[in-house]
Amino acid sequence: MKTPSLDLLIIGAGPAGLSAADAAAREGLSYVVIEKGTIANTIRGYPVGRTLFSTTNELEMREGALKPVREKPTREELLSHYVHFVLDHGLLINAGEEVVDIERAEPDQFVVHTKSQDVIGRAASATYHARRLLFAIGAMDHPRRLNVPGEDLPKVHHRFVDPYPYVRKEALVVGGGNSAAEAALFLSEEGARTTMAIWRSDWENRDPKAGAMKHWVRSPLEREITEGRLRVVLYEQVDEITEREVALTTDAGEKLRIPNDVVFVLVGSDADLTLLRRLGVKTEAGRAAFTEVPVYKPETFETNVAGIYVAGHFTNARHIKPAIDVPRKVVPLIAQSLRAAGYFDKRRSEYRL
Ligand SMILES: Cc1cc2nc3c(=O)[nH]c(=O)nc-3n(C[C@H](O)[C@H](O)[C@H](O)COP(=O)(O)OP(=O)(O)OC[C@H]3O[C@@H](n4cnc5c(N)ncnc54)[C@H](O)[C@@H]3O)c2cc1C
Repeated sequence: MKTPSLDLLIIGAGPAGLSAADAAAREGLSYVVIEKGTIANTIRGYPVGRTLFSTTNELEMREGALKPVREKPTREELLSHYVHFVLDHGLLINAGEEVVDIERAEPDQFVVHTKSQDVIGRAASATYHARRLLFAIGAMDHPRRLNVPGEDLPKVHHRFVDPYPYVRKEALVVGGGNSAAEAALFLSEEGARTTMAIWRSDWENRDPKAGAMKHWVRSPLEREITEGRLRVVLYEQVDEITEREVALTTDAGEKLRIPNDVVFVLVGSDADLTLLRRLGVKTEAGRAAFTEVPVYKPETFETNVAGIYVAGHFTNARHIKPAIDVPRKVVPLIAQSLRAAGYFDKRRSEYRL
């Protein structure tokens, strides 16, 4: 017997995928979200206790639903908000399941293959049929690397979540953006002997539009420097990471060897566009430096392959607000296209606001 076709299959349960699921439920579409990690996995990967830089109204799924203790929510408050949004609205999310392959069987028929593990670690696979696909896959799949000797040592991390294992350790943070600055600040404040290696252009950048570190990160960071707990090295390149040291060249050409127990390389990350490319979706250089984004129509977010839509961080919209806003506009257009093709009989779900 042929598996019934979903109207819409959504890949990824970050803010974009959750917003898409919400919109699909409102439209009465048959849909499912496949998420390889947990609900809001990227936000779960933020540093423990971190305060969001966005305001509540930019992050919440319903006006007034997110009620942080302080002015802006913490990682934990935001995560809880998204999880409860899923629970309260009965959104259909298959967490712990990864989309690994997709074929196009007919013009309006995609066959989606997934892999997961059961509770005792046995591998499982599943196949779904869907008329439309929405990729909401974020841009965290491939953390950028320095590509230097020693980068694969176990003490080198490409994500930072928690400063507490590193109290009184020699820590190096490499990177020039907000994530690197926050990690250096958290480590230094919580007793790691921290060095931040940053390019001069990033350190001197004060332009928020050019991705300068947020002033509420820079001010305490500068206090840590003044009070002698944090050292900033304006570097040209990291030369080598060894078990006990890091060798780097400063922007003045000086060679330094720094004692070291742990390294955080926080120089950004990229989306995995493999599935999209395999389906024939074209990509191009994105607006943010060093990024590659799928080509999509700005009004509909449909790619050059009919029936494949994109939303969220791996497009040119790199914050939570557009990740939530875009699916609210796009999913009703998908519903319209399904109705026009005669697939969808305006059935409304039991879903309530
Ligand atoms: C440390 C840090 C701090 C940030 N702070 C802020 C902030 O304060 N304010 C703000 O607006 N933005 C912030 N951002 C950016 C923000 O997190 C992203 O813009 C937002 O998460 C984008 O949502 P998304 O749904 O597009 O992608 P994501 O939240 O990344 O979700 C994508 C999901 O897709 C899943 N996925 C990917 N591939 C597959 C697959 N093949 N199969 C199944 N699932 C898949 C992933 O597991 C992931 O859960 C921050 C980012 C970082 C890293």
